[in-house]
Amino acid sequence: MPYVITEKCLGERYATCQSVCPVECIHAGDYKNETFMIIDPDVCIDCGVCLPECPIGAIVSSVDESPQWAQVNKELTAAFKGSPKPTVRPPNEAPHKATNKLVK
Ligand code: SF4
Ligand code: SF4
Repeated sequence: MPYVITEKCLGERYATCQSVCPVECIHAGDYKNETFMIIDPDVCIDCGVCLPECPIGAIVSSVDESPQWAQVNKELTAAFKGSPKPTVRPPNEAPHKATNKLVK
């Protein structure tokens, strides 16, 4: 069961998760007019390396934890795949949205 990127990533996209993924299944794009990232559910090997890399805790470790966003990740995969890698934000940089908090 793949890992899933959730709503918290919308408009934040630190992109620190992308470089650690051993199978390069994290892809960038825009969703609802905001920056976003998705995990390709068909390629993710459930290694868990990405989860602690997200400064705001936007990644969950199973579809069951966020079925709605799992569906979004799946649906956006084809469109996001092959897009250029975004610039990585410093992980200690404050989130753009007041609703998000640094988790480490
Ligand atoms: S590190 Fe977190 S906020 Fe940044 S792109 Fe990955 S999931 Fe989104
Ligand atoms: S769990 Fe592993 S394979 Fe899946 S997206 Fe995260 S780093 Fe990549």
